[in-house]
Amino acid sequence: MSANLRELISAERIATRVAELGRQIRADHPDETIVVIAVLKGSFLFLADLARAIPGDVRIEFLGVASYHGGTSSSGAVQITQDLRANIEGQACLIVEDIVDTGLTMDYLLRTLAVRGPKSVRIATLLDKPSNREIDVPVDYVGFTIPDEFVVGYGLDLGELYRNLPYVAVYVP
Ligand code: 5GP
Repeated sequence: MSANLRELISAERIATRVAELGRQIRADHPDETIVVIAVLKGSFLFLADLARAIPGDVRIEFLGVASYHGGTSSSGAVQITQDLRANIEGQACLIVEDIVDTGLTMDYLLRTLAVRGPKSVRIATLLDKPSNREIDVPVDYVGFTIPDEFVVGYGLDLGELYRNLPYVAVYVP
């Protein structure tokens, strides 16, 4: 492990929790095809494992977003860089995120998807940093609640590095 990384959540703990979430998500959507909407890029590994942990019919869609807050701007502006290809009207949707921090990105996504007339929209996030929340967002499924530290691994990056780590680590500069 790099000197800058301190393991926070092991690959084994992630696997156990993702299996639980998959069963819970299916139990909450009996007999429904779930449209899993993965928010790129950070959710790609969580998506891959979670999708396989949800029994029954699932569709996979991708959504690209760029957030311009926390560093480059204080506006909280979020922009969709790659939109869904599918029509979600009348569909049971599940947004899959890597981490909910201020909540600004998720709030924007919820408002953007709501106007498209889905049957339901639930949220699954691998990580939740509630201490940093600026907007209250209804997160239905949380993998792990973590303290306000900058984390990388299992999809999360720092300058596009560390996404391939099989565990979540705190980056210590
Ligand atoms: P929010 O809009 O909730 O403040 O932030 C959501 C986005 O900020 C996440 O999807 C992620 O890209 C980024 N982010 C927030 N906290 C962290 C963190 O600890 N590590 C990394 N790598 N990204 C983070």
